[in-house]
Amino acid sequence: MKIFHSEVHRAHYPPFEIFDGGKRVPYLENPDRMDRITAALKKTDWADFVEPSDFGLEPIHAVHDREYIAFLASCWTEWLASDPEVAASPETHAFLPATFALRRKPPVPATLLGRAGFYMMDLSACIVEATYNAALASANCALSAAQRISDSSTNAFALCRPPGHHAGKDYAGGYCFINNAAVAANWLSAKGKVAVLDIDYHAGNGTQDIFYERDDALTISIHGDPNYEYPHYIGFADEAGAGAGLGYHKNFPLSMGTADLAYLSILNEALDMIRGFTPDYLVLSTGMDTFDGDPLGKFKITRAGFGEIGKRINSMKLPTVIVMEGGYANAELGENVVSLLENFK
Ligand SMILES: [Zn+2]
Repeated sequence: MKIFHSEVHRAHYPPFEIFDGGKRVPYLENPDRMDRITAALKKTDWADFVEPSDFGLEPIHAVHDREYIAFLASCWTEWLASDPEVAASPETHAFLPATFALRRKPPVPATLLGRAGFYMMDLSACIVEATYNAALASANCALSAAQRISDSSTNAFALCRPPGHHAGKDYAGGYCFINNAAVAANWLSAKGKVAVLDIDYHAGNGTQDIFYERDDALTISIHGDPNYEYPHYIGFADEAGAGAGLGYHKNFPLSMGTADLAYLSILNEALDMIRGFTPDYLVLSTGMDTFDGDPLGKFKITRAGFGEIGKRINSMKLPTVIVMEGGYANAELGENVVSLLENFK
């Protein structure tokens, strides 16, 4: 199986993030995650690592606001230019705002920090010098994998970092800047019907937002109930799409402690919906933070559970782009990915 991966991600390594309560902690979405996954894949005899191609900005602008992408491209250098203290020791800083846009439709502010609060939904999408290029390379991994499955009707793995499913049309959040799965799904939608299944532990709010009014893509997310879990304000069961897109989005919010058996029964419901939609392609937003022991998750999926999840999804026999999203139990991450992925080889 082709594994699209770029080392450009490595320098995107913010020195900290801000947790609930204002706690400053090491950045959990770190390069070690990729090292664990590549090490586990290299032990197999079927992983074929390939550099992604450069698709340019057009397929990214097709799902993201142009001004938002321009903000990502320039905010770091603008920040250094505006603050001598940061410019003196950039490696100890991460670009974050302290004020966020209100829930009305304000104009985009002219100031740098005003734009930051407008284009970010939380304090976990920390920006450093290398972030923008890492996000572009990550999107190119997803696009290259999409091209691979459309050219050869096979499956491909986009080993993306940073992840993407929390990034909306015009905002970053939850370690995500460009929505890799949405960019790939939108690119594929020019060639056929696409379903996006998000099995990350957290609701795929960005993907939901981007496709919410579209009927040419079915989006489904299985995740921790936002009544107790991030992203808190979206991902509820009654959100089913709007306008032409009504009926083309589905959320399965699940309770704390959900383990293999209960999860697999919900997964079957999701797969039945996908079969009913008769897509030509599947984009699988794959988070491993449903794992029992993940520091950011409250589910109890086992390694064998990941194997069964992969088996059932691949039983649909759809050309599938598997897009890497979250997963923070680094010591177990590589083997967990292999357990799911080997069903698609
Ligand atoms: Zn997650």
